[in-house]
Amino acid sequence: MKKIGVLALQGAFNEHIEIIKSLGHEGIEIRKAEQLNNLDGIILPGGESTAMGKLLDDFQIKETLVNKINNGLPVWGTCAGMILLAKELDGGENAHLKVMDIKVKRNAYGSQLDSFVTNEVIEDISENEIPMVFIRAPYIVDIDEKVDLLHKIDGNIVAARQGNMLATSFHPELTNDTTFHEYFINMS
Ligand code: GLN
Repeated sequence: MKKIGVLALQGAFNEHIEIIKSLGHEGIEIRKAEQLNNLDGIILPGGESTAMGKLLDDFQIKETLVNKINNGLPVWGTCAGMILLAKELDGGENAHLKVMDIKVKRNAYGSQLDSFVTNEVIEDISENEIPMVFIRAPYIVDIDEKVDLLHKIDGNIVAARQGNMLATSFHPELTNDTTFHEYFINMS
């Protein structure tokens, strides 16, 4: 049984915890820096990245989290969580944790395609189609060669991995498909 933390300052953390538990692992809500010790992995959920970034500062978690990730703690950012991981944000906004060599565009789909669902195969993850839920989603506009591209939709990168860091534009926790959670738990 693994101990997977979910940053629980804001956003869709409950859904991740439920899936982790349903897979037989321990899901822990993280609100304090001390709780980052002895985790096998941490998920940064969807929500509002600007608010979450500010709360990371207010709750004094940011520095410890960055150190843990840089020392190899497996981390998975979904949607707003992916924005938190990026070293750079498109449009010159300040980045947050600055740990992953990706450049991310927030609210990249604009108002027309604000939210949508699609089913596609991601070869490195599973041979079966995975449902992908996008909600005011970001995508990756640029990646360093250190980063493995996992999936593109219409030419835009929506999933990537760099060693211990996984980022998805979409929300596997809002579907009943557990493939992505199993993949992440196996990274830890
Ligand atoms: N648009 C949000 C942001 O910029 C992310 C949306 C989400 O996490 N569903 O933070």
